Amino acid sequence: PETITIQELANRMSERGVDVIRLLMRQGQMHKITDVIDADTAQLIAEELGHTVRRVAESDVEEGLFSADDVDEVKLPRPPVVTIMGHVDHGKTSLLDALRKTTVVSGEAGGITQHIGAYQVTSPLGGKITIIDTPGHAAFTSMRARGAKVTDIVVLVVAADDGVMPQTIEAIDHARAAGVPLIVAINKIDKPSADPQRVRNELLRHEVVVESMGGETLEFEVSAKAGTNLDKLLEGLQLQSEILDLRANPDRSAEGNVIEAKLDRGRGPVATVLVDRGTLRVGDIVVAGCEWGRVRALVADNGSQIKEAGPSVPAEVLGFNGTPEAGDRVAVVENEARAREITDFRTRQRREKLAARGAGAGRSLADMMR
Ligand code: GDP
Ligand code: MG
Repeated sequence: PETITIQELANRMSERGVDVIRLLMRQGQMHKITDVIDADTAQLIAEELGHTVRRVAESDVEEGLFSADDVDEVKLPRPPVVTIMGHVDHGKTSLLDALRKTTVVSGEAGGITQHIGAYQVTSPLGGKITIIDTPGHAAFTSMRARGAKVTDIVVLVVAADDGVMPQTIEAIDHARAAGVPLIVAINKIDKPSADPQRVRNELLRHEVVVESMGGETLEFEVSAKAGTNLDKLLEGLQLQSEILDLRANPDRSAEGNVIEAKLDRGRGPVATVLVDRGTLRVGDIVVAGCEWGRVRALVADNGSQIKEAGPSVPAEVLGFNGTPEAGDRVAVVENEARAREITDFRTRQRREKLAARGAGAGRSLADMMR
């Protein structure tokens, strides 16, 4: 049900909180300023104080922001977005670095890549692959908890000299819960103590059946350190992506997700965005969570400025008025007024939710004292 704190209601009417409390008291309700009242009561109070009430539902404000697929929209193949997961010390960071060094799409040969939260490489088969630059499960789960689905494929790194460990199992569970296919990278095969078959057997116990055991999960024996079979792994990612038939319409206003965001001393708020439909362009007005801005510049993973970013192309977005949060959904809107309307509404909602939580805690404490 819709609720509002007395403070917020008073603020919106430009009335004093005590006058609202007094009116409620006259109706036999005892409240303090931080208490939450329901929308009907709030409307009664507002009308009593001579205000006209226009109740705005979330659906009114957010309508059209994330539109459904158009029946005859043309969807073109898009690169897969890949996250690397696995147990600590099994080689996630090493693999990220090694893959990045192979072929960075947008960089000149030997060019230095920036850390922007994601980067793109080319598989030996020619397809592009977008790799999220933050290893680990925290990023994956926190984004998923916020409803963002940013990953198409999980690369599960298992060290061949160590085998399946607790965080390996955790990663399998996360991928399964998200409905995201796994590709297994059996890492550190350069080590004399490496035992890749043991890894396969242990994975089987967790119902991950790799290809060489008759299953459907692609597996590759790799060495992040020696660079062994990284090309095979990239090919595997492209093949898996083709099986998934990932597509998006680049020809519409952009929507996507914030992968990373920070406040940069020189550049102001910087958000790394992965577009999942449409094309984001310099000059677009964007909203992300409670923040909005006009895209002043787009920066690619090699540090160069680009004019647009289509589906699965990672780009830093400059021009937000505040710093959004990782996992925030991004959308282009028609104008600044619309951006303000949406972000003001969301900011109010967030404030009310926080207040409601605070007031709720107060009430239950009071209940306990009774
Ligand atoms: P993470 O915790 O999963 O990110 O693992 P790291 O990438 O930090 O690697 C942990 C350790 O394993 C480091 O000392 C790496 O140098 C080492 N390592 C990673 N990959 C390989 C590999 O393929 N072969 C060998 N021999 N060592 C590796
Ligand atoms: Mg690491």
